[in-house]
Amino acid sequence: MREGIHPKYHEASVKCNCGNEFVTGSTDENIHVEICSKCHPFYTGTQKAVAARGRIDKFNRKYGIEQENN
Ligand SMILES: [Zn+2]
Repeated sequence: MREGIHPKYHEASVKCNCGNEFVTGSTDENIHVEICSKCHPFYTGTQKAVAARGRIDKFNRKYGIEQENN
């Protein structure tokens, strides 16, 4: 195997929007995610993130604020 063919694979620090940080293996050194195993409803068993999103949508509809990210 010659060197320089594969990208470097090392430990990457991942930061999530919920504040959770963890380390994983990646070719990137720093990763930012919006959802992780700690705050994702699938893992936590709660609908916290989804419920919060729903409230924001309701608020925006009520005041006629258009969302661009849908
Ligand atoms: Zn998270």
